[in-house]
Amino acid sequence: MKVGVPTEIKTDEYRVALTPAGVRELTDRGHEVVVQAGAGEGSAIGDDQYVAQGARILPDADAVFAEAEMIVKVKEPQPVEVARLRPHHLLFTYLHLAPDPDLTRGLMASGASCVAYETVEDTRGRLPLLAPMSEVAGKIATQAGAFMLEKPLGGRGILLGGVPGVAAANVMIIGGGVVGMQAAFIAIGMEATVFVYDRNIDRLRELDIAFGGRADTCFASTLHIEERLPDMDLVIGAVLVAGAKAPRVITREQLKLMKPGAVLVDVAIDQGGCFETSRATTHSHPTYEVDGITHYCVANMPGAVPITSTHALTNATMPYVVRLADLGLRDALMADPGFLKGLNVHGGHVTYAPVAADQGLEA
Ligand code: NAD
Repeated sequence: MKVGVPTEIKTDEYRVALTPAGVRELTDRGHEVVVQAGAGEGSAIGDDQYVAQGARILPDADAVFAEAEMIVKVKEPQPVEVARLRPHHLLFTYLHLAPDPDLTRGLMASGASCVAYETVEDTRGRLPLLAPMSEVAGKIATQAGAFMLEKPLGGRGILLGGVPGVAAANVMIIGGGVVGMQAAFIAIGMEATVFVYDRNIDRLRELDIAFGGRADTCFASTLHIEERLPDMDLVIGAVLVAGAKAPRVITREQLKLMKPGAVLVDVAIDQGGCFETSRATTHSHPTYEVDGITHYCVANMPGAVPITSTHALTNATMPYVVRLADLGLRDALMADPGFLKGLNVHGGHVTYAPVAADQGLEA
């Protein structure tokens, strides 16, 4: 199969969907790889490194889409990329369609087959292609939140870990999955006082063991969250209902309970956001303020650390790319029910039930 890697064009996105190691896996198996000139630059990978593993460099995205059967990307396609998709294309990338009806309709109209990283499941129902980026985003969430709490940046002016004789800041993490756990580990490492909320009691049990008493685990009822909000300095939203729009966990009304200058970090913004007042921001303009509360809602947080993220992502995606190239879409998906869950759009239809339900379409 001919596999194409365009340069990512979303604002402040520096990752790339395939490394030279991925090219090698594909070319060794007789596949062809075409890479847009400069696609790896943001991740410190030169064109020559791709060429050394058997890839061909093409001058622009038009040429990549024109030649390749499978397009491998990182972020959801931007409008100019959707316009390049044709019915014979297989698109493999993050899509996050539930909160994005325009993109969903664009992909349906393209006729392409679109497999979303974030809804592929492993044999235990986990999300193997979301997890590495969630690990990165979770760590960034606490770092970014700690920074935004500084007074010159509009924050309350409190140091996350305190100092001897002065109390640490309070951090609430709502959603104790992959993002939440990593966010908590960084907050614990920075010596903050940490509370992790989830609605899955088995998950709270696992977290309780992992934290070994260094963070509190809490059931995420509306009342429990509301009661603790007045004491919180940093709140990180990290909930997910796979493939669906993020559940709302803090309303605008509840912002009034918080201290002025407290910080909200909405990691779930890529699924529409879990705070009522969230709207997507970029690394160039990461925050805005509502009712005295700083909001940080960057939709591609891992894009800021491409040297880590590109390798973490492609370590996970590469075996799936190889299976698609070796077997073709149909056989690769039919051989693995978890992989089949990645198929979001096919033959002009939405094929993933939670996306269809969120947008009033038939799956
Ligand atoms: P996950 O499935 O590992 O964890 C989600 C957790 O949320 C689960 O433990 C679940 O029980 C819990 N949950 C669901 N509904 C809840 C509710 N109402 N209250 C409390 N807890 C609830 O998911 P993850 O990999 O940690 O991802 C979390 C979010 O972060 C997703 O939306 C993902 O797309 C997003 N994400 C964003 C970025 C970014 O750059 N902004 C990067 C990576 C991941």
